[in-house]
Amino acid sequence: MRGVRTYLDWNATAPLRPHARAAMVAALDVAGNPSSPHSEGRRARAIIEDAREKVAELVGARPADVVFTSGATEANNAVLAGGWERILVGATEHDSVLAPARKSGAWLLDIPVDAQGVVRRERLWAALAESAGARALLSLQLANNETGVLHPLAECADLARQHRLAIHSDVVQGAGRVPIDIAALGVDYLSLSAHKIGGPKGSGALVLREGARLPSLLTGGGQERARRAGTENVVGIAGFGAAAEAALGEVRAMERVRLLRDGLEREALAIAGEAIVIGAGADRLPNTSCLAVPGTRAETLVIALDLAGVAVSAGAACSSGKVSASHVLGAMGLSRDVAAAAVRVSLGPTTTERDLWVFLTAWAEAVGKRRSRAVA
Ligand code: PMP
Repeated sequence: MRGVRTYLDWNATAPLRPHARAAMVAALDVAGNPSSPHSEGRRARAIIEDAREKVAELVGARPADVVFTSGATEANNAVLAGGWERILVGATEHDSVLAPARKSGAWLLDIPVDAQGVVRRERLWAALAESAGARALLSLQLANNETGVLHPLAECADLARQHRLAIHSDVVQGAGRVPIDIAALGVDYLSLSAHKIGGPKGSGALVLREGARLPSLLTGGGQERARRAGTENVVGIAGFGAAAEAALGEVRAMERVRLLRDGLEREALAIAGEAIVIGAGADRLPNTSCLAVPGTRAETLVIALDLAGVAVSAGAACSSGKVSASHVLGAMGLSRDVAAAAVRVSLGPTTTERDLWVFLTAWAEAVGKRRSRAVA
């Protein structure tokens, strides 16, 4: 649709930050291969190392422990394919964790979540005790992409460490939204994606705890300290670095976003009293709302909202244009009807009250209700 758009799908991807764009445009003109020792090569190398420092700072890591990848999918695959005997995964992990975990041939344990989407501690504790002694990995995301629900990651990692498991966390959705410190979380591997924080798509990183080893997925040249072969995506890395720097500076400003999100949910419930805010009883990211009006269909609502100029997602995982039943909402025990109605609204640092007003007006119409009040 032409005209002003209201973009509320930041968990799918964030708009490119002007800062990141500028860094990428500048990097396009750097001719050298970062592995070449001449001036051109050193200029390209400097861009990468500058970005490495910024990405490291975003998660409290050492620059030397940042490995640039083609995105979080690659980072997740690199860790999960690490030759583990046992893998423990949260039931609501992203497919880029679940699929390589299934393919790995390891003994795989799915750790259930409760009705709010939070990992069931007693089930995790039992699985950890059972896995002690094996070459085992726990992969538990920081925040869920569909609901924004946060796991008690530091607490889980602490116990996993006591049982001598390695710990991986996909922190893609938490980056720039909640403070992240790899040492404080106590994990060995973190996955990041540039495009969720206003960098380019196709760029990401695997970050290691100091001293942790990385099972290399790509072999060939010795790039990235022999941890990820292939000439680096200098332009993508430049954009990622600029986005990471900006995102770090914005974590505190996410409180404003939280207030907007809470106002949106209050108003959505005032419009449709039967609406459900999925995961509302748990700690959540400040920017995410997963709303369901039983009896509606998310795909229909997403199309109606799009025609009204608003971009949101169906709560069900949507990839390659196909909407399938959400394993996340299923794991939370929600009925198929509620899961099929779930719409994910995700905000970002530039979201305004007006955006929410436009959304709520269009949403009320799409769910067949009349709006009586303005956004608080
Ligand atoms: N993990 C989570 C939680 C995600 O939301 C996404 C993106 N949908 C990914 C991993 C994959 O990231 P990328 O697009 O960089 O491969």
